[in-house]
Amino acid sequence: MVLARIHTKRTKIVATIGPSSWDEDKIRRLIQLGMDVARINFSHGDHKRHGQSIDLIRQIAAEEKRVIAILADIQGPKIRVGAIKTPITLAKGDKLTLTLNDADGTNNIVMLPHPEFVRDLKPGLRLLLDDGNLEFVITDLVPNGLVCEVILGGVLSSRKGVMAPNAHLTLSAITDKDRDDIEFALAKDVDYIAMSFVRSADDIRELRWLMRHLGKDAGVIAKIEKHEALENIEEIINVCEGIMVARGDLGIETPAEEVPYHQKRIIRLCNKASKPVITATQMLSSMVASPRPTRAEASDVYNAIIDGTDAVMLSNESASGQYPLEAVETMATIAAIAEQNIWQNRGTDWAKSNTINLSGEAISDAISEATYYISEALNPRAVVTVTQSGYTARRVACERPRAPIVCVTPNPVAYRQMALVWGVIPILIPNFNNTDEMLDTVSHYMIQEGYANRGDTVIVIASVPFGGAANQTNFLKVHTIDA
Ligand code: PEP
Repeated sequence: MVLARIHTKRTKIVATIGPSSWDEDKIRRLIQLGMDVARINFSHGDHKRHGQSIDLIRQIAAEEKRVIAILADIQGPKIRVGAIKTPITLAKGDKLTLTLNDADGTNNIVMLPHPEFVRDLKPGLRLLLDDGNLEFVITDLVPNGLVCEVILGGVLSSRKGVMAPNAHLTLSAITDKDRDDIEFALAKDVDYIAMSFVRSADDIRELRWLMRHLGKDAGVIAKIEKHEALENIEEIINVCEGIMVARGDLGIETPAEEVPYHQKRIIRLCNKASKPVITATQMLSSMVASPRPTRAEASDVYNAIIDGTDAVMLSNESASGQYPLEAVETMATIAAIAEQNIWQNRGTDWAKSNTINLSGEAISDAISEATYYISEALNPRAVVTVTQSGYTARRVACERPRAPIVCVTPNPVAYRQMALVWGVIPILIPNFNNTDEMLDTVSHYMIQEGYANRGDTVIVIASVPFGGAANQTNFLKVHTIDA
């Protein structure tokens, strides 16, 4: 029984729930096969359906004794053209007018019903439509609209998305629809809200203000898909609880060829800041219609894990594809193989400088790195992080210790949010009053939850006094489970 509950993979899997996966059997199997976070995509579906999915996931997670976090992915200011009566075929050099007025595509005049977007456009800027399949350059501004020339032609049909990759847009990051969706998601006590098209830390602050105003809270995941977000990435990482490398829109906003560079940089910065990072979109795209991944997809998932991603994400593979279960199983298998190789060639970056540095960050770094090396030397049953905010668990997870990482916390919010953090297994415990009680509680719950036996060695790390200074891990004990 001991350790039987520890899943063989450490990387977390985020699976988007949709028509292919929202029935009871599928959700149970997704959980059994390795889904850790269920993504509810508010760009599709309605509140009734999303509510049913959230309730069902929570019910089945409890039955399966698993902690599954719910991530509400909010659509954000997605700009789309209006309805087009007959799809328009556009060739290089053709002219197209985009207008705030009523228009249905006749005479190459198409409605663009977003005044706050049009306001920021100028001649010379590029527009990408239909996920970058069509490209225009703006040539003139006209009353209530603009004229563009076609650079890359194709067929334009109703409601296709529009992006202005080199414009500086001033429109609010939260639309009226988003506000309704956020209110609904918070009322359902979701664990994370993913914010789309984030440009700066101020967008995250706006979301926090709204949550405070609604009297609720959730972890904020910033989706990095805009060029402004790439410029402000460090500040954004500082103010959110996690990051999603949203490669779909990022690969339109910047050339697709640059996406791997941005992905690797974002993962590195998140690891450095001890913030969880999700690598998303087209990870196993071909599995929408095939039970097996391509070699390139298997390599993509593997490499993201080696690079340090906490989680890998499935979008339409699990939401609307034909093989949602196979997709989760494939990710879990690739993850387990990649993790065997994480520990190879690990160097040491101890003794960073000759000057004495006793800042909270330096102490946390030293304790976390020491935990890694002590766990390599002693091969303990687990590294047990006792944490109020979740910081100690997030920090040590970045060291990728071989031993299982158990996060013991009295905080139900941190407990559920740990579902996204690489390798972390959360346990909810009652409050304790001092260090002796803390160690007794660790022993008791490690045995009760089936993660250790009496006499096993674990490494306990914590911030002491408990609940004191945030983001400071200053306690380490090689502890024998003795309850
Ligand atoms: C993306 O663009 O990669 C993404 C995850 O966002 P969405 O699925 O909402 O377009």
